[in-house]
Amino acid sequence: MDTKLDPSRDDLPLMANTSHILVKHYVLDLDVDFESQIIEGTIVLFFESGNRFQKQSGSTKEPCRSESNEACRFRMPEPCHSPVTDTRTFSSKTRSNDFTICGKGEKDTSGKDGNHDNWEQASGISSSKYCCDTGNHGSEDFLLVLDCCDLSVLKVEEVDVAAVPGIEKLTRSPKLTVVSEELRNQIVCELVTLPADRWREQLDYYARCSQAPGCGELLFDTDTWSLQIRKTGAQTATDFPHAIRIRYSTKPQGRSVTWTSDQSGRPCVYTMGSPINNRALFPCQEPPVAMSTWQATVRAAASFVVLMSGENSAKPTQLREGCSSWHYYVTMPMPASTFTIAVGSWTEMKPETCSSNDLAAERSLSPSEADFRYVGICGHMEYPCRFQNPSATTQEIIPHRVFAPVCLKAACQETLLQLVPPCLSAAHRVLGTHPFSRLDILIVPGNFPSLGMASPHIIFLSQSVLTGNSHLCGTRLCHEIAHAWFGLAIGARDWTEEWLSEGFATHLEDVFWAKAQQLDPHEAQEQQELKACLRWCRLQDEVRNSPEEMQVLRPNKEKTGHVSDSGSSVVKHGLNPEKVFMQVHYLKGYFLLRFLAQRLGDDTYFAFLRKFVHTFHGQLILSQDFLQMLLENIPEEKRLELSVENIFRDWLESSGIPQPLQRERQAGAECGLARQVSVEVEKWIRMNRRPRKRKRRETEQVFEKGRNISPAVFTDLWRAESPDLPAEGKPSSSARPQCGSGQRARNYRWRM
Ligand SMILES: [Zn+2]
Repeated sequence: MDTKLDPSRDDLPLMANTSHILVKHYVLDLDVDFESQIIEGTIVLFFESGNRFQKQSGSTKEPCRSESNEACRFRMPEPCHSPVTDTRTFSSKTRSNDFTICGKGEKDTSGKDGNHDNWEQASGISSSKYCCDTGNHGSEDFLLVLDCCDLSVLKVEEVDVAAVPGIEKLTRSPKLTVVSEELRNQIVCELVTLPADRWREQLDYYARCSQAPGCGELLFDTDTWSLQIRKTGAQTATDFPHAIRIRYSTKPQGRSVTWTSDQSGRPCVYTMGSPINNRALFPCQEPPVAMSTWQATVRAAASFVVLMSGENSAKPTQLREGCSSWHYYVTMPMPASTFTIAVGSWTEMKPETCSSNDLAAERSLSPSEADFRYVGICGHMEYPCRFQNPSATTQEIIPHRVFAPVCLKAACQETLLQLVPPCLSAAHRVLGTHPFSRLDILIVPGNFPSLGMASPHIIFLSQSVLTGNSHLCGTRLCHEIAHAWFGLAIGARDWTEEWLSEGFATHLEDVFWAKAQQLDPHEAQEQQELKACLRWCRLQDEVRNSPEEMQVLRPNKEKTGHVSDSGSSVVKHGLNPEKVFMQVHYLKGYFLLRFLAQRLGDDTYFAFLRKFVHTFHGQLILSQDFLQMLLENIPEEKRLELSVENIFRDWLESSGIPQPLQRERQAGAECGLARQVSVEVEKWIRMNRRPRKRKRRETEQVFEKGRNISPAVFTDLWRAESPDLPAEGKPSSSARPQCGSGQRARNYRWRM
């Protein structure tokens, strides 16, 4: 059988032309309607168009031209007839015609209904046809391309930011008498580049600008994967409006959000880490390089709670009868794919008795464990960073809330609630400063396809982690907490390098969890060795039973991180259904990091890791950024044959079991706990071979009463490493296969 992959199905397209123009901030204003299962409203995008515009805006400008002069200046011989200021009467048909006149008709006539032919033709991995067309060349209008899928776009317009009272303070002109496109763009440019210490003022301006009147509809068209917008006569990104408003609504079947019921039978909706990320929730620039901030106002019936990736613990504002509004914002720029929202009738869970939470948060940090000498030195673009705030760097436990359906209250109180503080504190002891100022944890509905998912300021946990004793819940929580550093604060520049978030989180979950349990070093080592044994079995199975090409952590090799001239690209295997069944990024990534930590010794490795976090937080990385810095920090005698090239060859760019790992496992690790488990496993295998007459409760008694192993511990450890075995029941049949890529930190998924 020809196993050649079909790019229209296996690779995830990232269409946005981020090389030409970048979104710096989104303002979402949305209504959630459970009856129609639609989210509807507006999104305002604020752009920066690169260096050229910045230079221009820095210079003093001549008094502004009138709108008509401006139009004349940019209008080119190309017969794009419709005046931009009067396109309201356009139907989608006339839009299409208009595109045809402008020489883009061959692509705009198809694809509205998910026609894959259009995409195949346009987006083959090597084909740059589409990319060229979205660029800036010849005499055509500049085309803004946003990632967009399954959205009904109703209207796109330019926003008259110059109409906002007081906005002239941002410009060099004392009074805005004559308003031009150039002036409006200058205002946005000043706004998006305000210094970090003026973030409140900036957020406020963004909010007010987002409500300013429109000043001309823009032409737009959609196809399977994108929304394309242009303004007649605006030939370059610099000339294109830098603040635009899109009125749109989601579709019930859109793949970014899931409409379902919670465990109490009440309706809810949430983003569940779809492979297409958020492009069916709002039009956006998906490529991770488009790091932006956002704020969102979301309205829903007053009985609902709106949780979101936001650094403020929002409380509802009562609006008209029976409706309330929630406002969230972030000031740290992050990829749009990390935005998460959940709306449901959830209850905030509080401990039965007052916990030692606050006391623990006050405990000071031993300077030997985390090193804060790096305070004040950050390599990222400017934002109000916690690493530069001395009181934030010493905060062991960040403020947190836990939400769940009311029927899970007892389960939350028994397991989850008391685990959050020690796990947060353990993470801080290992890595230092928490990158995010607060955290919401939500127990998501039963159809959630994985054990957990981390997003900025919010962690989703499956109800499955609430069963059994604390091992499953604790390790899962530690894994998601680790993603705050690896996957979120430090993201992969190329989503094919998923190991950069999943490998790190898998390796760190053991380390955090051992600290949270206050294990002594020997106990910690035994438990970690047992997990290594389980993961080793799992990796071997996976390597035996999956296509070789799917076993490679860095499939694009030296082309990793490359994009087309426009900034568009495809994520290899990003939509491949086979990927749902694979954990190779978790497992091989984990074993690589374990191998490196063993080579260096834990103390050296984790001291380095803290240094790495300080250097790269707030930025996107490729594998070599980590490996190069690591090797530069290894003492000569420990480096031996290690080099970036060797690690690429042995671990990241080959299929199958990495040679160094094979050698290590063959040498055989001595671990009492693992030996004890193998004895148990063999006993179980023998039991299973006997005729099945006995009842389950009898078999439970065959467990060895060991020092460290009990049936519960064994079962939890096993579950944690066997995501295809649901901890209880089966995943809902409505759960669709999900495959993941990229920035959003995802986790073990239930297998269908
Ligand atoms: Zn920083």
